Amino acid sequence: MSQLIFERGTQGHRGVALPKLQVPAYTLKTKLRAEKPQLPSVSELEVVRHYTECSQRVKGVDHVFYPLGSCTMKYNPKVNEDAANLEGFTAIHPLAPEEDVQGCLEVVATLEKYLTQITGMDAFCFQPAAGAHGEFSGLMTIRNYLKRHHEDQRTVVFVPDSAHGTNPASAVMAGFTVKQIPSNAEGNVDVEALRAMADETTAALMLTNPNTLGLFEKDIMEITKIIHDAGGLVYYDGANLNAIMGIARPGDMGFDVVHLNLHKTFSTPHGGGGPGSGPIGVKRHLIPYLPSPRIENGRIHEDCPESLGRMKMFYGNFGVMVRALTYVMILGKEGLRRTSQVAVLNARYLEHELSRNYDMAIDQPCMHEFVMTLKRQHHDLGVSAMDIAKGMIDRGIHPPTMYFPLIVEEALMVEPTETEPKGVLDEAVRVLSELLDLAASDSQALRACPTTTPVGRIDEVQAARHPILRWQKGNE
Ligand SMILES: *Cc1c(COP(=O)(O)O)cnc(C)c1O
Repeated sequence: MSQLIFERGTQGHRGVALPKLQVPAYTLKTKLRAEKPQLPSVSELEVVRHYTECSQRVKGVDHVFYPLGSCTMKYNPKVNEDAANLEGFTAIHPLAPEEDVQGCLEVVATLEKYLTQITGMDAFCFQPAAGAHGEFSGLMTIRNYLKRHHEDQRTVVFVPDSAHGTNPASAVMAGFTVKQIPSNAEGNVDVEALRAMADETTAALMLTNPNTLGLFEKDIMEITKIIHDAGGLVYYDGANLNAIMGIARPGDMGFDVVHLNLHKTFSTPHGGGGPGSGPIGVKRHLIPYLPSPRIENGRIHEDCPESLGRMKMFYGNFGVMVRALTYVMILGKEGLRRTSQVAVLNARYLEHELSRNYDMAIDQPCMHEFVMTLKRQHHDLGVSAMDIAKGMIDRGIHPPTMYFPLIVEEALMVEPTETEPKGVLDEAVRVLSELLDLAASDSQALRACPTTTPVGRIDEVQAARHPILRWQKGNE
């Protein structure tokens, strides 16, 4: 295994040649001097090699196939970066007077206009910095709305059992009580169960559509009606908009609030928790209750008496908005529709090819992603979804999402996205089939994967509870 940069240095090596000192030397008083930093002594070449090697160890979408379900790891066009790097965007200050930043306010307004057209909502707020932050902000907006309408008794938020874990977490953080809605055998919301549960305590239903099993809720109009009839609001988790752009709109399905993950569907690099953007869109009746300040007609409106107040400093992660606007404008209406069509086509093709060898959680054509279950192999051969995922790493593919949604045993959730060519999908089918053969012929070998990474299997519990995140001398 190669060395860390701290182990690599040689006394006296250095990466910079400073000019000769032209002023008298000055020695700091000892009490002002910080402890001498433990920096590696490395030459410029050693530094370059170190970072190049680090970049090659990362498995990102620019290196490998990255079918991480529910995360939409699509290729992020580099032209987005060019746009976000324009000086007019990077050199602004968040406290600049609004007449000096009209171009940037126009970016926000134009993106808002396109997102309302794509989703069928009436307005967007760009403050939330991620999907989960959007959920929290959207639910706080709902709570603010209910409070101002003297509906404080509405304290219950319904969340389906297939939901992303952030949904119940956001609802609880926003002060609601969560009630789980069961899925039926087809993987959709059990409409009758929902009907029986909705009442005068219902604040909202949170729904992902297509859901995390990759299925479109066919009864969506009935579902939103049940909640509205009970006096509640309906929240759309739009992190997975990739399947329906230009085809179906949450606004037309009866949703009152949506959040979008610009960093997923609208292409910003987001592995490893980079800056994201989870704007929330609402129908007209909720606009006054959104977070403030509101940006409207080139003005920043601080005075919004019904507003929830701030959910973030300033106006959101602006660079992500520029990338999203670039993406939308380059693709246009037809391009966005085609993006979703190909995303679904790729997922269905992969699902179809893999279903020769793998069991699918639900026996139905998927939308943008699908879920496999290794339950049978776990029982018969003692290999798990985790073992298959680790085997994929050795064969140059990023693992899919594992053990999610929670209602599927030994789950692998696969989302190929529209940006992968057929050859890559065929290669993934070959690799995954080979891994199942290995599971049958030599399960021990599969359980030993990964063997090509600096670190093999780790103790997941220890790693989560007592992470060691820093190298220390003598503790190699
Ligand atoms: C990714 C995702 C989220 C959370 O988004 P973050 O930006 O990671 O906070 C919520 N719901 C669904 C369905 C998602 O896929």
